[in-house]
Amino acid sequence: MPELPEMEAWRRALDDPVSAFPIEKAGPAHVATLKTFDPPLSALEGRRLSGAGRRAKRLLFPTEDGELVLLVHLMTAGRLRYLRPGEKGPKTPAFRLRFTDGAELVLTEAGSKKRAGVWLLTPDAAEAELSHLGPEALGLGAEGLGEILGSNSRRVHALLRDQRLIAGIGRAWANEILWQAKLSPFALSTELTPEQVERLAAAMDEELSRGLELREQGAKDAAVYRIHNRLGEPCPACGTPIARVDFEEHTIYYCPTCQTGGRVLKDRRLSRLLR
Ligand SMILES: [Zn+2]
Repeated sequence: MPELPEMEAWRRALDDPVSAFPIEKAGPAHVATLKTFDPPLSALEGRRLSGAGRRAKRLLFPTEDGELVLLVHLMTAGRLRYLRPGEKGPKTPAFRLRFTDGAELVLTEAGSKKRAGVWLLTPDAAEAELSHLGPEALGLGAEGLGEILGSNSRRVHALLRDQRLIAGIGRAWANEILWQAKLSPFALSTELTPEQVERLAAAMDEELSRGLELREQGAKDAAVYRIHNRLGEPCPACGTPIARVDFEEHTIYYCPTCQTGGRVLKDRRLSRLLR
Protein backbone atom coordinates (compact mmCIF):
# COMPACT_ATOMS: atom_id res chain seq x y z
CA MET A 1 0.00 0.00 0.00
CA PRO A 2 1.34 3.44 -0.80
CA GLU A 3 2.18 5.28 2.41
CA LEU A 4 3.00 8.88 3.33
CA PRO A 5 6.12 9.30 1.11
CA GLU A 6 4.41 7.75 -1.90
CA MET A 7 1.17 9.72 -1.49
CA GLU A 8 2.97 13.00 -0.81
CA ALA A 9 5.09 12.53 -3.94
CA TRP A 10 1.84 11.94 -5.83
CA ARG A 11 0.25 15.02 -4.33
CA ARG A 12 3.16 17.21 -5.39
CA ALA A 13 3.12 15.80 -8.92
CA LEU A 14 -0.65 16.29 -9.30
CA ASP A 15 -1.04 19.69 -7.66
CA ASP A 16 -0.43 21.78 -10.80
CA PRO A 17 -1.90 19.53 -13.52
CA VAL A 18 -5.27 18.94 -11.83
CA SER A 19 -5.86 22.66 -11.32
CA ALA A 20 -4.82 23.77 -14.82
CA PHE A 21 -8.25 23.33 -16.47
CA PRO A 22 -11.86 22.94 -15.30
CA ILE A 23 -13.48 19.52 -15.15
CA GLU A 24 -15.44 18.63 -18.26
CA LYS A 25 -16.71 15.21 -17.19
CA ALA A 26 -16.57 13.39 -13.84
CA GLY A 27 -16.96 9.63 -14.05
CA PRO A 28 -17.83 7.00 -14.88
CA ALA A 29 -16.92 5.31 -11.64
CA HIS A 30 -17.03 1.62 -10.74
CA VAL A 31 -20.01 0.98 -8.45
CA ALA A 32 -17.70 -0.38 -5.73
CA THR A 33 -15.22 2.49 -6.05
CA LEU A 34 -17.58 5.44 -5.67
CA LYS A 35 -18.55 5.54 -1.99
CA THR A 36 -20.97 8.49 -2.10
CA PHE A 37 -24.00 9.38 -4.24
CA ASP A 38 -24.98 12.81 -2.92
CA PRO A 39 -23.76 15.18 -4.24
CA PRO A 40 -23.58 13.35 -7.59
CA LEU A 41 -20.29 13.24 -9.50
CA SER A 42 -21.81 15.48 -12.15
CA ALA A 43 -21.73 18.31 -9.57
CA LEU A 44 -17.99 18.53 -10.33
CA GLU A 45 -18.52 19.31 -14.00
CA GLY A 46 -17.70 22.88 -14.94
CA ARG A 47 -15.78 23.43 -11.71
CA ARG A 48 -12.05 23.78 -11.35
CA LEU A 49 -9.98 22.01 -8.70
CA SER A 50 -7.76 24.22 -6.56
CA GLY A 51 -5.01 21.60 -6.47
CA ALA A 52 -4.11 18.40 -4.66
CA GLY A 53 -3.98 17.99 -0.90
CA ARG A 54 -3.19 15.02 1.29
CA ARG A 55 -4.19 13.71 4.71
CA ALA A 56 -2.50 10.49 5.87
CA LYS A 57 -2.69 8.10 2.91
CA ARG A 58 -5.60 9.93 1.23
CA LEU A 59 -5.51 12.51 -1.53
CA LEU A 60 -7.90 15.46 -1.44
CA PHE A 61 -8.96 17.52 -4.42
CA PRO A 62 -10.98 20.55 -3.29
CA THR A 63 -12.85 22.63 -5.83
CA GLU A 64 -11.71 26.22 -6.28
CA ASP A 65 -15.11 27.55 -5.15
CA GLY A 66 -14.70 25.77 -1.79
CA GLU A 67 -17.97 23.82 -2.14
CA LEU A 68 -16.80 20.26 -2.82
CA VAL A 69 -13.92 17.94 -2.01
CA LEU A 70 -13.04 14.83 -3.98
CA LEU A 71 -11.31 12.34 -1.67
CA VAL A 72 -9.33 9.38 -3.02
CA HIS A 73 -8.00 6.41 -1.04
CA LEU A 74 -5.94 4.00 -3.15
CA MET A 75 -5.77 1.20 -0.52
CA THR A 76 -3.37 -1.57 -1.63
CA ALA A 77 -3.79 -1.89 -5.36
CA GLY A 78 -5.25 1.41 -6.54
CA ARG A 79 -3.13 3.62 -8.80
CA LEU A 80 -3.75 7.17 -10.03
CA ARG A 81 -2.51 8.33 -13.40
CA TYR A 82 -2.58 11.74 -14.97
CA LEU A 83 -2.91 11.39 -18.74
CA ARG A 84 -1.90 14.34 -20.87
CA PRO A 85 -4.29 15.28 -23.70
CA GLY A 86 -4.28 12.46 -26.25
CA GLU A 87 -2.29 10.07 -24.06
CA LYS A 88 -3.66 6.51 -24.11
CA GLY A 89 -5.09 5.23 -20.85
CA PRO A 90 -6.89 2.14 -19.52
CA LYS A 91 -10.18 1.25 -21.25
CA THR A 92 -12.24 0.78 -18.09
CA PRO A 93 -10.68 2.65 -15.18
CA ALA A 94 -12.34 2.44 -11.77
CA PHE A 95 -12.79 6.19 -11.91
CA ARG A 96 -12.10 8.98 -14.38
CA LEU A 97 -12.01 12.78 -14.40
CA ARG A 98 -11.70 14.49 -17.76
CA PHE A 99 -10.51 18.10 -17.95
CA THR A 100 -11.53 20.59 -20.64
CA ASP A 101 -8.10 20.40 -22.32
CA GLY A 102 -8.59 16.63 -22.84
CA ALA A 103 -6.27 15.55 -20.02
CA GLU A 104 -7.59 12.88 -17.64
CA LEU A 105 -7.05 11.75 -14.07
CA VAL A 106 -7.74 8.02 -13.93
CA LEU A 107 -7.86 5.56 -11.06
CA THR A 108 -7.13 1.92 -11.84
CA GLU A 109 -7.08 -1.06 -9.53
CA ALA A 110 -5.41 -4.36 -10.28
CA GLY A 111 -7.23 -7.55 -9.33
CA SER A 112 -10.91 -8.30 -8.96
CA LYS A 113 -11.31 -6.90 -5.43
CA LYS A 114 -12.30 -3.24 -5.58
CA ARG A 115 -11.05 -1.70 -2.36
CA ALA A 116 -9.85 1.73 -3.52
CA GLY A 117 -12.43 4.44 -2.92
CA VAL A 118 -13.57 7.80 -4.22
CA TRP A 119 -15.79 10.10 -2.17
CA LEU A 120 -17.37 13.37 -3.29
CA LEU A 121 -18.07 15.38 -0.17
CA THR A 122 -18.83 18.82 1.17
CA PRO A 123 -15.89 20.30 3.12
CA ASP A 124 -17.69 19.57 6.43
CA ALA A 125 -18.36 15.97 5.47
CA ALA A 126 -14.73 15.60 4.35
CA GLU A 127 -13.54 16.88 7.70
CA ALA A 128 -15.80 14.37 9.48
CA GLU A 129 -14.52 11.56 7.22
CA LEU A 130 -10.93 12.37 8.27
CA SER A 131 -11.56 13.21 11.92
CA HIS A 132 -10.48 9.81 13.26
CA LEU A 133 -6.93 10.26 11.97
CA GLY A 134 -4.01 11.00 14.27
CA PRO A 135 -1.41 13.70 13.58
CA GLU A 136 0.73 13.43 10.44
CA ALA A 137 3.81 11.26 10.95
CA LEU A 138 6.22 13.57 9.15
CA GLY A 139 7.27 16.40 11.46
CA LEU A 140 5.51 14.95 14.51
CA GLY A 141 8.58 15.42 16.73
CA ALA A 142 9.75 13.69 19.90
CA GLU A 143 7.32 15.44 22.23
CA GLY A 144 4.19 14.58 20.24
CA LEU A 145 5.42 11.06 19.59
CA GLY A 146 6.30 10.57 23.26
CA GLU A 147 2.75 11.46 24.32
CA ILE A 148 1.24 8.98 21.87
CA LEU A 149 3.65 6.19 22.84
CA GLY A 150 3.13 6.81 26.53
CA SER A 151 -0.65 6.68 26.44
CA ASN A 152 -1.01 3.49 24.36
CA SER A 153 0.75 0.32 25.51
CA ARG A 154 1.30 -1.49 22.22
CA ARG A 155 4.02 -3.24 20.24
CA VAL A 156 5.70 -0.29 18.59
CA HIS A 157 5.41 -1.69 15.03
CA ALA A 158 1.64 -2.02 15.44
CA LEU A 159 1.34 1.40 17.07
CA LEU A 160 3.19 3.16 14.25
CA ARG A 161 0.73 1.66 11.75
CA ASP A 162 -2.40 2.67 13.68
CA GLN A 163 -3.79 5.58 11.66
CA ARG A 164 -5.93 6.77 14.57
CA LEU A 165 -2.72 7.44 16.55
CA ILE A 166 -0.21 8.45 13.85
CA ALA A 167 -1.22 9.06 10.24
CA GLY A 168 0.70 7.98 7.15
CA ILE A 169 2.85 4.97 8.13
CA GLY A 170 2.13 1.42 6.96
CA ARG A 171 4.10 -1.79 7.27
CA ALA A 172 6.86 -0.94 4.79
CA TRP A 173 7.84 2.35 6.39
CA ALA A 174 7.36 0.95 9.90
CA ASN A 175 10.04 -1.61 9.01
CA GLU A 176 12.38 1.06 7.64
CA ILE A 177 11.83 3.46 10.56
CA LEU A 178 12.36 0.87 13.30
CA TRP A 179 15.55 -0.38 11.65
CA GLN A 180 16.85 3.20 11.42
CA ALA A 181 15.91 3.75 15.09
CA LYS A 182 17.56 0.43 16.09
CA LEU A 183 14.43 -0.63 17.95
CA SER A 184 12.72 -4.01 18.16
CA PRO A 185 9.39 -4.11 16.31
CA PHE A 186 8.00 -5.87 19.39
CA ALA A 187 9.22 -3.27 21.90
CA LEU A 188 6.38 -2.02 24.09
CA SER A 189 5.62 1.63 23.40
CA THR A 190 5.27 2.51 27.09
CA GLU A 191 8.64 0.98 27.95
CA LEU A 192 10.78 3.08 25.59
CA THR A 193 13.30 5.35 27.29
CA PRO A 194 13.26 9.09 26.49
CA GLU A 195 16.44 8.53 24.47
CA GLN A 196 14.72 5.78 22.43
CA VAL A 197 11.70 8.03 21.83
CA GLU A 198 14.06 10.75 20.54
CA ARG A 199 15.71 8.22 18.25
CA LEU A 200 12.37 6.98 16.96
CA ALA A 201 11.09 10.50 16.26
CA ALA A 202 14.30 11.34 14.40
CA ALA A 203 14.14 8.07 12.43
CA MET A 204 10.52 8.80 11.42
CA ASP A 205 11.51 12.16 9.96
CA GLU A 206 14.70 10.88 8.34
CA GLU A 207 13.09 7.84 6.74
CA LEU A 208 9.86 9.51 5.56
CA SER A 209 11.87 12.42 4.12
CA ARG A 210 14.29 10.02 2.43
CA GLY A 211 11.35 8.08 0.98
CA LEU A 212 9.62 11.21 -0.25
CA GLU A 213 12.75 12.49 -1.95
CA LEU A 214 13.35 9.16 -3.71
CA ARG A 215 9.71 8.77 -4.76
CA GLU A 216 9.72 12.28 -6.20
CA GLN A 217 12.65 11.15 -8.34
CA GLY A 218 10.54 8.19 -9.49
CA ALA A 219 12.48 5.53 -7.54
CA LYS A 220 10.93 2.04 -7.39
CA ASP A 221 10.57 -0.11 -4.24
CA ALA A 222 13.93 -1.87 -4.68
CA ALA A 223 15.77 1.46 -4.65
CA VAL A 224 13.75 2.84 -1.75
CA TYR A 225 13.44 0.06 0.86
CA ARG A 226 16.56 -1.10 2.70
CA ILE A 227 14.89 -3.64 5.05
CA HIS A 228 11.33 -4.16 3.87
CA ASN A 229 10.96 -7.28 1.68
CA ARG A 230 14.68 -8.09 1.99
CA LEU A 231 14.59 -11.42 3.83
CA GLY A 232 18.08 -12.98 3.99
CA GLU A 233 19.85 -10.02 2.42
CA PRO A 234 22.68 -8.45 4.44
CA CYS A 235 21.73 -5.62 6.79
CA PRO A 236 23.18 -2.40 5.29
CA ALA A 237 24.66 -1.52 8.72
CA CYS A 238 26.09 -4.79 10.03
CA GLY A 239 25.74 -7.49 7.35
CA THR A 240 23.50 -9.81 9.40
CA PRO A 241 20.83 -11.43 7.19
CA ILE A 242 17.52 -9.59 7.49
CA ALA A 243 14.94 -11.69 9.34
CA ARG A 244 11.16 -11.66 9.26
CA VAL A 245 8.33 -12.49 11.61
CA ASP A 246 4.57 -12.61 11.16
CA PHE A 247 2.47 -10.57 13.54
CA GLU A 248 -1.20 -9.53 13.35
CA GLU A 249 -1.60 -10.42 9.66
CA HIS A 250 1.54 -8.46 8.84
CA THR A 251 5.03 -9.53 7.93
CA ILE A 252 7.69 -7.60 9.78
CA TYR A 253 11.30 -7.38 8.54
CA TYR A 254 14.15 -6.50 10.92
CA CYS A 255 17.84 -6.96 11.65
CA PRO A 256 18.39 -9.28 14.65
CA THR A 257 21.77 -7.68 15.40
CA CYS A 258 20.83 -4.00 15.09
CA GLN A 259 17.33 -4.20 16.54
CA THR A 260 16.77 -7.12 18.90
CA GLY A 261 20.16 -7.77 20.54
CA GLY A 262 20.65 -10.95 18.49
CA ARG A 263 17.29 -12.45 19.43
CA VAL A 264 15.13 -13.97 16.72
CA LEU A 265 11.50 -12.93 17.11
CA LYS A 266 8.90 -15.70 17.25
CA ASP A 267 5.71 -15.75 15.24
CA ARG A 268 3.32 -14.96 18.05
CA ARG A 269 0.28 -16.57 16.46
CA LEU A 270 2.15 -19.85 16.13
CA SER A 271 3.63 -19.74 19.64
CA ARG A 272 0.14 -19.11 21.01
CA LEU A 273 -1.10 -22.29 19.34
CA LEU A 274 1.80 -24.33 20.70
CA ARG A 275 1.60 -23.08 24.25
ZN1 LIG B 1 22.09 -4.90 11.28
